[in-house]
Order: sequence, then structure tokens, then C-alpha cells
Amino acid sequence: MQPVELSSVEIVTAIRQGDVSAERVVTAFLDRIARLDGSINAFLVVDREGALAKAAEIDRRRKSGQPLGPLAGLPVAVKDVLCTADLPTTCASKMLAGFRPPYDADVVARLRRADAVIVGKTNMDEFAMGGSNENSAFGPVHNPWDLDRAPGGSSGGSAAAVAADMAPATLGSDTGGSIRQPAGLCGITGLKPTYGRVSRRGLIAFASSLDQVGPMCRSAADCGLLMETIAGHDPGDATSLDTAVPPYTQLLDQPLAGLRIGRVAAHFAAGLDTEVARGVEEAFAVFKAAGATIHDVELPHARYGVPTYYLVAPCEAASNLARYDGAHYGHRCGPASGGKSAGDGATAFDSPLVEMYCHSRAEGFGPEVKRRIMLGTYALSAGYYDAYYAKALRVRHLIRQDYLDAFATVDVIGGPVSATPAFRLGEKTGDPLAMYLVDMYTVSTNLAGIAGISFPCGFTRSGLPVGFQLQGPALSEPLLLRAADRFQHLTEWHRRRPAGCSV
Ligand code: GLN
Repeated sequence: MQPVELSSVEIVTAIRQGDVSAERVVTAFLDRIARLDGSINAFLVVDREGALAKAAEIDRRRKSGQPLGPLAGLPVAVKDVLCTADLPTTCASKMLAGFRPPYDADVVARLRRADAVIVGKTNMDEFAMGGSNENSAFGPVHNPWDLDRAPGGSSGGSAAAVAADMAPATLGSDTGGSIRQPAGLCGITGLKPTYGRVSRRGLIAFASSLDQVGPMCRSAADCGLLMETIAGHDPGDATSLDTAVPPYTQLLDQPLAGLRIGRVAAHFAAGLDTEVARGVEEAFAVFKAAGATIHDVELPHARYGVPTYYLVAPCEAASNLARYDGAHYGHRCGPASGGKSAGDGATAFDSPLVEMYCHSRAEGFGPEVKRRIMLGTYALSAGYYDAYYAKALRVRHLIRQDYLDAFATVDVIGGPVSATPAFRLGEKTGDPLAMYLVDMYTVSTNLAGIAGISFPCGFTRSGLPVGFQLQGPALSEPLLLRAADRFQHLTEWHRRRPAGCSV
């Protein structure tokens, strides 16, 4: 088998045993990026030199019998929302074009300590706001299964990179579905861990009460491998949980007999694509045949998930993004010579400083980011705060309580991850509400702070992947990974490769 066809688990095993050198593996993926990424645009930066140097170092250390980290030689691409001290970090925004952070994100530091090889930074929706990757200031990502279609978002570059075998593993971030939805639309496996399970230090903040980092890989087993490295307490993130990290990969191989899976009838309401519905129902049947039992559950407030999310997230974004003022770092514009004239000789701005702030933000942010800042600022303003933000927080509590009630009777909840397969590039860009509705199956997980995993469960007649989502209680990652891994032992969907990208 070619190195690019191997799973992450196989790659680290082969390198550790000396069956293949880290250099050969890393070169194979870099060559593939060079060959394919011109048409996919999954990468914003590729660090060929740095990656090859790290691979050579790993090979040297292995030959001289020195200890190697658990991910030694594994090429990993990192979503450009995560700070890397040696590579530009832009959040796919003109605002941060050329920005080099002074430190590595905690997860990046953990990857390096585990001897993973960072091959580059992946494209995304600007500041992780979006569901199609079309909000990137550096051009959209093309779905490897059909280049005219969106890969989903906001971690579209990470999903497409794995789907096209340009990286065996990537990191994404998920605030309202940005790991699970692109994983579903690109036919890969993505895990959104419990809020606080993975440190967010050095993750550029979007909505701090929702953001979480997670792995995007070819299989659940590979996601478990990555989790063993990236999860864990970080005193540098006050929300990070101080709970032991389970040996995820060692907990996989157990039968599913007795697993209680919830099924929400409302998930299958009008609007769900019939081919997606079929794939999801077939997945329930696979789980049932494997010994799981399926139970009807209700999440009565889930239908308020999208409006609640689109108040909470923009409010937090508006305050988080206030830091981009052109003064400290990032894009800076002006001030123009003494301020713009308002016509009567007075300037349109209170001061040259305010003028600089305004021009820097007007030029640096793209339209969707501005829309979120305006929505959030409005909803937080005096007079509207109680009607919008405070009310959204109360509904958030009800959504969370629904899950707690459901998890009293079932272990996990299964269902679709998005209502349709990958949609065409440009199809929803003129209609922000249509784009927001794409998130209907994913946002509640983040509002509740629980865990979710998405993995392929079939394909449409036209060859587009269909995703299945399992949600579980806080810290249920071992169970979610185990269930998805079992499913992947019983099915072949996760092994399919896009035709245009064959090795
Ligand atoms: N699509 C959602 C949004 O636009 C989710 C984004 C995310 O999870 N980062 O906000």
C-alpha cells in the first residue's frame, strides 16, 4: 500500500517498527498536496521544509534507539484557527494576514511533543464563522467528492485534506458543528469533544462558551489516537477539565450489545433529504444488528437550537473580535491624512485613532464576520439584552436539560449530521438564513457542552457521502469512539475514496 492510503494508526505503527521511514511517509503526503491542492485549496500554508526536517530527525532518533513520541512521524495538518509559532496563523481572514503568533496553541505543542509532523495550516471560514468554507478570505475549499460542491465548514480545509488523502489526520474546531458537518459532507470521521476536554489556549476565540478543538481523521480509531495526545488538562485554559484522559484506543474493541441508542423522530421531519434519511436509517439498522437497541427520545427544545445559537455565538463573537482594532496586531489602515472630511470641514471621526479603528475593521473583516459582529452588538445593547441574549441563555439551559433527560434513558443519541449532502458552491451564499439552517443538527451539542461524533454511513446515487452523528453525555468520548469504531468494522463507507483523487 502507498503511504497515503494508510490510516494514522497504521502509519505510527509502521514507522515505529521501521517498516517505513518518517521521511518517506511525509514526502508522500507533501507530494500529494503539491499535486492535488491546486484544485482543492485545502491548505493556506504548507511547511515542506519544516516537515521534512522533523521527519529526518525522527528517523535519526529511531535509528539511534532514542525514544519516540506516540505520534512519531504522523503528518498532521492544523486548522488555521490554531496558533503556530513557526507558521502564519490567519483564521482565513485578511485581518490576520501574515500574523505570526508568539506561541503555539496547547494542542499544537502537544502534537509536537508527541513527535507528530505538522505539514501545514488548513483553510476555513473566516474566524470559523460559516458552514461552507466560502467565507474564507483566501478562496473556498472544493469538496474532493465533487469539486463544484462545498466541503462544509468551518473546518472545510481539514475535512477536504483528509478526504483527498493529503493528510491522514487534521485538527478542526467546532463551535456549532464545524468539525462534524464538514466531516459528514466529506466522508471522514470527526469528533467534537466535550466542552473543556481539549485545551483552547491558542485557539483563536470565536464563541468562548461553545468552542472546542477536535480530531478529523479517516476513522474513529484514528480520532482516538489523536485524542490521547491532544486531550488533557491545561492550566492555561481556565475552562479545561482536570479529568484523567482515558486510553481511547485501548477501549475500542468491545461489543455493542446492550448499547441504548436514542432516535429523535423530529430529526426525520420534512426538509431532510431522502437519500440522507435512508443512509441514517440504514446506520440504525447496522447498530441494531450489532446488538444495540434503538429507543424513541425527544429533545423538545432542539428546534430552538439555531435561533439560540445565532444569538449566543454572535454575542460572544462581537466581544471576542473587539480585540482586532489595528493597534496591536493584524490589519491596520490609516488614519488618512487627518481624518475624512464630513463636508463642513469637521471630520467624520472623533479622532484619528477612531478613524484608524474603523478603517482597519472595515477593511480587515469579511461580510459574514461583520454581520455576526453587528448581530451580537445589537443583541447585547441596552434595551435588547434581556429580550435577546438573556432569553437565549435561558433557552440554552432548556436545551441542555433535554439532553440530560434523554441520557437518563439512553446512552447516546443517533441521527443525521446535516439535512443534505454537500451543496453546490454558491448555492447558499446569497441567503445567510439558509446557511444558518445548515447547522440545525449540530448546534445543540455545543449549547449543551456535550460530545458528538460524525462518520460516513452511506453515499447518495450521485456519489456524495452521507454522515451519521452520535451525540453522548459529557465525557462520553470513549463510548462514542467505541460505537463508531464498531460501526466501521461492520461497514466499508469510511474506506471509500473520491474518484478524482485516486493514488
Ligand atoms: N456553521 C456554524 C457557524 O457558522 C458553526 C461554525 C463553527 O462550528 N465554528 O457559526
